[in-house]
Amino acid sequence: MNPVLAARGLIKTYGDVHALAGVDIDIHPGDVLAVVGPSGSGKTTLLHVLSGILPADRGDVFLDGRAVGELNEAGRSELRRTAFGFVFQSGMLVAELTAEENAALPMLLSGKPREESLDAARMWLGRLGLRGLQTRRPGELSGGQAQRVAIARALTHRPRVIFADEPTGALDTRTGQEMMTVLLEAAGETNAAVVIVTHDKAIADRAPRIVEIQDGRIATGVAV
Ligand code: ADP
Ligand code: MG
Repeated sequence: MNPVLAARGLIKTYGDVHALAGVDIDIHPGDVLAVVGPSGSGKTTLLHVLSGILPADRGDVFLDGRAVGELNEAGRSELRRTAFGFVFQSGMLVAELTAEENAALPMLLSGKPREESLDAARMWLGRLGLRGLQTRRPGELSGGQAQRVAIARALTHRPRVIFADEPTGALDTRTGQEMMTVLLEAAGETNAAVVIVTHDKAIADRAPRIVEIQDGRIATGVAV
């Protein structure tokens, strides 16, 4: 099986800080991997470079064998809306939009018809246990509910890879574990790969594969 996402020789520096100092990684469809490591080790930078939010200084990322670095900013932006889904620590939902509009946003921004987008959003919201809350706005949801809306938003357009940066960071332990369960189940159904940055060991332990980052490199001695 070919990797859905592959990185070769990723280097990213900020002044004299080597945020990424040569990272190689292969991610296959359906893979679930946790990226762990101390604060400042390069986890978020890796997620941003893998997902085309940030260009690498050197090296490249390949989506289905195609070099992402050859795309211009518009092409990378298109990729983020179609091939990738994102879950951030604090949801980052749009306060003025309802839960279903938030969840439908990647499809709406890609120009998909409104009803088709909202149908997909309602389907996932229902599957994630939010039936009946579709027309609430983020301010009318609990932290755990809002994070489920963010998961639905990451899934509606059926991305190939879902990136999550500290997705449980703002949740209590139990809600965080429940969020992982629904995220992993939903991703499994669509065969999306999941890349989760976390410094919570109990969250990382839910992933079959753990990648430890130290000083911008994948730590040796850790099976990846
Ligand atoms: P982590 O997510 O593991 O905490 P980051 O990827 O955010 O680490 O950061 C890796 C290193 O790169 C840190 O030393 C951080 O200070 C530095 N860094 C990250 N982003 C920037 C930036 N935009 N400007 C300058 N330095 C940055
Ligand atoms: Mg970080």
